[in-house]
Amino acid sequence: MQYEDQNIFNQKLTDDFLDRLNSELEAAGPSQVLFWGYHTFGTDMVLGTGFGPSGMFLIYRLWEMGIKIPIFYLDTHLLFDETYALKERIEKRFNLTITRVSTDLSLGQQAERFGQELWKTDPNRCCHLRKVLPLRNYLSEKKAWITGLRRAQSKDRRNTQFVEWDPENEVVKINPLANWTGREVWNYIESKELPYNPLHDEGYPSIGCIPCTSVVDAESKDERRGRWKGLDKTECGIHHPTQKNNIE
Ligand code: SF4
Repeated sequence: MQYEDQNIFNQKLTDDFLDRLNSELEAAGPSQVLFWGYHTFGTDMVLGTGFGPSGMFLIYRLWEMGIKIPIFYLDTHLLFDETYALKERIEKRFNLTITRVSTDLSLGQQAERFGQELWKTDPNRCCHLRKVLPLRNYLSEKKAWITGLRRAQSKDRRNTQFVEWDPENEVVKINPLANWTGREVWNYIESKELPYNPLHDEGYPSIGCIPCTSVVDAESKDERRGRWKGLDKTECGIHHPTQKNNIE
């Protein structure tokens, strides 16, 4: 690959550089993107996952390719039991320890400071406190993070590139599955018999915190339907800034 011997930090991350890199990676496939990331950043690159299907693919491919980098998840204290159980299952099956990244603010303290059930009254602030700030803190000592973002997931994500500069966290963001569809990811999971969250079989296409995740009817095309149902909110803020990202 043309760029594999170049140190990205000796380059200015210009639009031109990223355009050329992304255009080359468009046909490369997710494994090549992971290889490029590891070659460039080594263990300063981390994988963040919420244990959705894309995350399962990435955990498996890294394991199969023998790439040992830190893997983390954001624990808001509000995840489903099935999600915590899946994490344990993955750790056992792949002999991994997945890092828990979380806020020091307990749910009780949050309720005292901002009112009960902040996810109902001000979900952007809730996500900011429980996801955006802990992530920023964790990534402050890293150089790159891998995500499971895909263009096909939603309108918000349709411009996802393989390699992007993440200005909120001041790291490079790597999205190896940017041009994959949900069906392609599921086909892979089924063909390799990888573990996945059993809630997907109960009508949850996308799984996050309990209060903000709903069952949906099978007709809707948006893969992230069921998140913040009924609210004018489609992202938590870790990938696309929300209005509250400036609140500290
Ligand atoms: Fe709070 Fe809901 Fe965001 Fe979870 S997804 S941090 S409960 S607003």
